[in-house]
Amino acid sequence: MSYVDEIIEAVVAKNPSEPEFHQAVKEVLNSLRPVVDANEEKFRREALLERLVEPERQIKFRVPWVDDKGQVQVNTGYRVQFNSAIGPYKGGLRLHPSVNLGIIKFLGFEQIFKNSLTGLPIGGGKGGSDFDPKGKSDREVMAFCQSFMTELCKYIGENTDVPAGDIGTGAREIGYLYGQYKRLTGLYEGVLTGKGLSYGGSLARTEATGYGLLYLTQEMLKMNGIDIAGKTAAVSGSGNVAIYAIQKAQQLGVKVLTCSDSNGWVYDPEGIDVAALKEIKEVKRARLTEYRNYRPNSEYHEGRGVWSVKVDLALPCATQNELHLEDAKALVANGVTAVAEGANMPTTLEATEYLQEQGILFAPGKAANAGGVATSALEMSQNSERLSWTFDEVDAKLQGIMVNICHNMADAAERYGFAKNYVAGANIAGFEKVVDAMLAQGVV
Ligand code: NDP
Repeated sequence: MSYVDEIIEAVVAKNPSEPEFHQAVKEVLNSLRPVVDANEEKFRREALLERLVEPERQIKFRVPWVDDKGQVQVNTGYRVQFNSAIGPYKGGLRLHPSVNLGIIKFLGFEQIFKNSLTGLPIGGGKGGSDFDPKGKSDREVMAFCQSFMTELCKYIGENTDVPAGDIGTGAREIGYLYGQYKRLTGLYEGVLTGKGLSYGGSLARTEATGYGLLYLTQEMLKMNGIDIAGKTAAVSGSGNVAIYAIQKAQQLGVKVLTCSDSNGWVYDPEGIDVAALKEIKEVKRARLTEYRNYRPNSEYHEGRGVWSVKVDLALPCATQNELHLEDAKALVANGVTAVAEGANMPTTLEATEYLQEQGILFAPGKAANAGGVATSALEMSQNSERLSWTFDEVDAKLQGIMVNICHNMADAAERYGFAKNYVAGANIAGFEKVVDAMLAQGVV
């Protein structure tokens, strides 16, 4: 049995009931086969893959808090510090009822390669809780965040582990988490990113993941002789990534026809109204059913279906495994040109393979959504310098980083004979740097 197959089998056996983690490991290791095969003896002696798939540390803790009725609630908190070979652990905190250890491990594992791809010195980590901020009062969210940070603060720091936002963790949650960290440690340091502008946040961080997705998509199309202007797109989700992806897409001349939330999806033949979407999601924290009140010509559909619309570009920006094989078939039948992942692992393995077989340009999340973490690293630099850069400075750096990532993934794919297989290219490019650092640092 090959080294890669042995490791995949061992990961599944050792981590039962963590299907998302298995999926991420399979996706990454399968595309690394040529690199692993070329170095098999050395990697086996060093147990390199065994070390790569085992988090350096995983922390699981109780998060008790009191709700508005005086009832004590208990959630589970997680922080997986996966790999620090190239820098302090860096990765978001997800607050969603579906969160469990396997999901945090899948996200932390992916984060290692994504962070490496940015070219910045950041290791991979991820955390979160099964707490659901939806429907909670501000006081309840604060109570949860303070309790969560009371435990988490023992393990993080500006030079050790720097968490950020993710699903369910936006500006409000980061503010409460930061306040509690400062109170407990007495340190005013860049321990979290995604902070508000008045206390160390970076301009353009809010927009970064969505904007970065479009910068990379634009470059990928350009490398293939296609102009992004004039194209149509389907976007899923209506959170941070989706909103700013839609905004940048429109600035680049793309007409975005759809968006969604976990209940249903919107089709707007005139193009999604970003101002209305922001008002519904960022201000009112309401459901997408409200969208029709702003745009009477739009349609709202319950359930799935966002990928059934005829578009040139598909940009999944909601959550993992939201674009299935039948969705991929519908997109191809409708003549889609490219799929670029704003979310983490939104496309199932079968759907990804099908899209690639059909010659669709496919940008994996670890490259396409790396703009968020890259700008988080820029926030860390500004915090260390005690300086704030302008929006345009940060945006220009972000654009440069995304263009570089695009070329790095394409070049790595080319080098190993996987032309245009950007999934393989992104994994290989991210892996090479991490492996180099791990081998140089000895058995740790
Ligand atoms: P938000 O919480 O702001 O938005 C998430 C969106 O996805 C919402 O519209 C939500 O709908 C929808 N959604 C969540 N869970 C499900 C589900 N199970 N089924 C269908 N829809 C769902 O999160 P973000 O925009 O920050 O994150 C979106 C994705 O992008 C995630 O995969 C995240 O890991 C990834 N990402 C985020 C980065 C960032 O900087 N924020 C950076 C890199 C990746 P509803 O409102 O109904 O819950």
